Amino acid sequence: MTVVRVALPVPLRKHFDYIISTELSPHVGCRVLVPFGNRKLVGIIWQIAPEDGFDETKLKTVIKLLDIDAALPPLLCQLLSFAADYYHHPLGEVLISALPALLREGRDLSDYQPKAYQLTRSGKQLDASALKRSVKQQALWQALQQHQLTESVVLQQHSRSTLKQLLDKQIAEEIIVPPIPFIAPLKAPSGLKLTAAQALAVTAVHQAYGRFERLLLEGVTGSGKTEVYLQCIASLLLKQQQVLVIVPEIGLTPQTLARFQARFDVPVLCWHSALTDSERLHCWLQAKTGAAAIIIGTRSALFLPFWQLGLIIIDEEHDQSLKQQDGFRYHARDLAIKRAALQHCPILLGTATPSLESLHNALSKRFIHLPLPDRAAGQALPKFELVDLKQQVLQFGLASQTLNQIKQQLNLGLQVMLFLNRRGFAPALSCQECGWLTECHRCSAFTTYHKQSRQLVCHHCGASKAIPRQCGGCGSTQLKPLGQGTEQLEENLQQLFPDTAITRLDRDSTRRKGALNQALEDIHQPGARLIVGTQMLAKGHHFPNVTLVVIVDVDGALYSSDFRAPEQLAQLLTQVAGRAGRGNTGGTVLLQTHYPEHALLQDIIQNGYASFARSALVEREQTRLPPFQHLALFSVEAHQADHCQQWLQQLAECAKQFPELQSLGPIPAPLERRAGKYRWQLQLYSAARGRMHLALDNLLSNLARWPLSRKVKWQLDVDPTDL
Ligand code: ADP
Ligand code: ZN
Ligand code: ZN
Repeated sequence: MTVVRVALPVPLRKHFDYIISTELSPHVGCRVLVPFGNRKLVGIIWQIAPEDGFDETKLKTVIKLLDIDAALPPLLCQLLSFAADYYHHPLGEVLISALPALLREGRDLSDYQPKAYQLTRSGKQLDASALKRSVKQQALWQALQQHQLTESVVLQQHSRSTLKQLLDKQIAEEIIVPPIPFIAPLKAPSGLKLTAAQALAVTAVHQAYGRFERLLLEGVTGSGKTEVYLQCIASLLLKQQQVLVIVPEIGLTPQTLARFQARFDVPVLCWHSALTDSERLHCWLQAKTGAAAIIIGTRSALFLPFWQLGLIIIDEEHDQSLKQQDGFRYHARDLAIKRAALQHCPILLGTATPSLESLHNALSKRFIHLPLPDRAAGQALPKFELVDLKQQVLQFGLASQTLNQIKQQLNLGLQVMLFLNRRGFAPALSCQECGWLTECHRCSAFTTYHKQSRQLVCHHCGASKAIPRQCGGCGSTQLKPLGQGTEQLEENLQQLFPDTAITRLDRDSTRRKGALNQALEDIHQPGARLIVGTQMLAKGHHFPNVTLVVIVDVDGALYSSDFRAPEQLAQLLTQVAGRAGRGNTGGTVLLQTHYPEHALLQDIIQNGYASFARSALVEREQTRLPPFQHLALFSVEAHQADHCQQWLQQLAECAKQFPELQSLGPIPAPLERRAGKYRWQLQLYSAARGRMHLALDNLLSNLARWPLSRKVKWQLDVDPTDL
């Protein structure tokens, strides 16, 4: 008997000891089923025979050891333990969340591994006459006499019941097929001649193979970053090493996948939230056994086990979907860098609009900086024009100058993209008589009017209700939509351009399975078309027929309390603009605004993102904001606003004992009420990362004892991206 220390998926910052038989040869990273209170939980063995004191007589026994081979190999255990420490999240939850759902539920891995069958010793010695009454069994027995057969081969010619009969009679037995790593690709190279900048980038990555190196590929939209990735991958596959490509949530379209599959004759697998549980487990196993050569996935792909990982690529490294915004709030870029370090492999971050964190790292030489300043096929970057909306008569939110330019492009048979970052028909319904607006009664927000689904939906808590007939204030029936969302813009454009095809791309229009792909396919058809959408349009798509991009309303984003807002707006504008003029004709971007003189707009238009970002960094340095200081954010929610404030006040008091922490707050969160609860926050800044984490540990161990902690729900977000 021995004792194992087990990490369990419970929100407690401790481990639990259990007894297990030594004969089972348990090791670290294996799953176990254990009794916990009156439940049974799946946990991960974290330590074997821990030395410090426990009373063996009080320990319960492991019910079942679920793995022979560690489900979480040592390298992943190291990565996850680092992550749990860094983000101050309970280790058990972190470890378990890295496993596919079926493994979290305790399923037996061997049920999902490819199987084969062979004759048992007695099966081999069997006399042919023993099976003479069953022709089918005899046929399978004879087939197995030649050599072992995989499950799929057996089932091509024999039935499952015949197989079961041979297994039951112990004539045949099941074996797990050893994995076969992928074979190096045979397909032809692209035939593209790399530009000088691309060639330099590819060489830099080649030189980094086999060791930890961070590289930032800062390439303007259409500069051929994907081509750089593909050429780097090609040489790595020849070394029989695997590649992980992390993309934003929406970036994982069949077009992306097709581009990789067209180039290489190796298994390319996808990992994203729309996979079924068994598809996920399949992908996980293919990565672990080395059968998959390339995995393209969203942020959690970072926790996949790999047989031999040689390169990590993060495409659109600035993208906000890389940060998990609830529960275990990790940043996939930062953890991927840690993973590359543990793995001794290079990591390539690519984007047209680097995050200020990565840019700072590149400019201060911690990352190798690889700029691609020009578009690959020599096209010009799109040119910005400001459309001053002041004192203009607008038609459906569009100035006459904008409408004229749209007409011109459509007449030439080209495509126009209209960007409006607001889905639904209208941001609210309003009473014509008294000015009453439809509000969510659980959030400090208005409810969006969705005309097609005939609902009022709160975009913060998801609550939806039927459309009222009467004003909630005065009873009038004169309710009208206020403002414009993408659904309405589409309807209005159809009136203005009745003969033009329109494609809308937002979360509502793409909810149905396959709808997004259909929309992307439509956009790739030649011919005049209007494309309307939200920030979904900004994500790396290659739309060669778009020559004009209209940013319908930029004003809402110009004034925000979040210090990251200018950076995020500059990224969004540049990315949306970057969809224009990627084909042979040039591109124009019309920016409609009431504030044409706004400094941020002027900077982006005159100087471009690269210049904006560099001056924004200088400003961050002067104001001591990240990346020049580290930031941790405590958020708290409660039914009473006082409880939030008091709890954070107590935390701020406590933080005073650490001179290295400066606190800002407590202040109400930007959305002060959500789903019926009040929300407040406290920001903690520090120049010293290590000491900040020690202080946070100390604060966390204190606050667990506060009586008020039972009345609130709190959360800590290290390096938050959203304030
Ligand atoms: P990015 O990912 O930087 O936005 P892409 O990789 O999608 O850019 O490339 C944009 C376009 O330029 C694609 O059509 C691609 O085939 C083309 N391209 C890339 N590299 C080259 C090159 N060296 N010569 C000519 N065309 C190129
Ligand atoms: Zn709500
Ligand atoms: Zn009214």
